[in-house]
Amino acid sequence: MIFTPEQYVKAPPIDSSYKSESGIGFEDLSGECKRCGKPTNNFRGFVTEHPNCVEVRFAGVCHPCKLITSYHFRIYEDGRIMTNKDDGWYNIDTKSTWYSRFVNKIKNA
Ligand SMILES: [Zn+2]
Repeated sequence: MIFTPEQYVKAPPIDSSYKSESGIGFEDLSGECKRCGKPTNNFRGFVTEHPNCVEVRFAGVCHPCKLITSYHFRIYEDGRIMTNKDDGWYNIDTKSTWYSRFVNKIKNA
């Protein structure tokens, strides 16, 4: 898990949009609850700029489930989006997952 509840509470609120000097970023940050699939909110987390990508690590709360879902992406200059799983970084298949909406928003940012 990227954020424990304690880490979540200590993390700063994250802006819903971001753009690096080289123009990589996201807007209208959103996420879905890993349990019920409804939108999460009260996002907290961090943005880190790397030479060729922007990394965003954040988490949101689903109030009905009382559950934190965390998200970890790297958005690259060439439009690729990768997500971090326990054993490494993976390209997001934007056609078959809920990431599609989020990713489209990122690409248009
Ligand atoms: Zn939920």
